[in-house]
Amino acid sequence: MKRSEKLRDRFLGCLLGMAIGDALGMPAEGMSREQIRQKFGILEDFHPARGLPAGSYTDDTQMSLIIAQSLVEHRRFCPEDIAGRFARWRDYAVGPGRACWEAATRLACGVPWREAGIPSAGCGSAMRVAPLGLFHYCRRGELKKDAVTSSVITHTDSRACAGAAAVAFAVSYCLTAAESGFSQEYFIRETAEFVEDLNYKMAERIKMILPLLSLEEEEGLARLGTGGFVLETVPAAFYCFLKHIHSFRDALVAAVNAGGDTDSIGAICGAIAGAYHGAGKIPLVWKDRVQDRDKILETADALYNLVPAAGN
Ligand SMILES: [Mg+2]
Repeated sequence: MKRSEKLRDRFLGCLLGMAIGDALGMPAEGMSREQIRQKFGILEDFHPARGLPAGSYTDDTQMSLIIAQSLVEHRRFCPEDIAGRFARWRDYAVGPGRACWEAATRLACGVPWREAGIPSAGCGSAMRVAPLGLFHYCRRGELKKDAVTSSVITHTDSRACAGAAAVAFAVSYCLTAAESGFSQEYFIRETAEFVEDLNYKMAERIKMILPLLSLEEEEGLARLGTGGFVLETVPAAFYCFLKHIHSFRDALVAAVNAGGDTDSIGAICGAIAGAYHGAGKIPLVWKDRVQDRDKILETADALYNLVPAAGN
């Protein structure tokens, strides 16, 4: 595969992986690890739930696609436009988180985007930021600034902003890291350093992952926590990716069986693992059945075509 084809495959893998993780985790959102085990054994396939057919994604992917489509249409990060789309998203939101919903309602009522966000440290801004990691993958300064701004539209807490920056950075890092020699230790160190000035606690939580990788997965995840609080969701997703660095499939299965905010852990883990492994490594049984596969692939392709280095 040519270098440009590999990069394109990773763009596709990122958005597709995100939607797959979201859709796999959707039926288990809010359940404990034990409840998931009792209901599904190992959750490793799409299941219908909440009136949605198997393979359906939720707010995580909806909001990510909003950001991606805005980037494609404007060819730049345009928070006013994204805020307008978030306001309209309320009409078709699937499983929205509280902070996103409240902020979107404020936006719909005419509150300017700089003032609409609420002081939440939920994972709502981290779960949807992957497209910015793709768009800015070779522009780290803009990546950080725009990831934070994208968070502020709904989540103003510095922990949420740092979580968004961490996920965007991780996506950008994984697009090229497989080529240049990936190590779990570097990934953790560089991601933690990247967000340290935004929120020290987020950097500390990310650094916690490394010594936990030698534990059983259940124990490691129990120590990190798996709830919707961004200081849990983001490290848990990173942990599943790193624990199963050689397999997209195993990383996703770990993420959606973790319990807690399974769709968001799945979405974040899927975006990062997809960027690392590429769409070619995603099992067909998931790739072929996830909701809106073609639309997601077209969006990822359009984002790839905006990247300056594309075609090199
Ligand atoms: Mg969700």
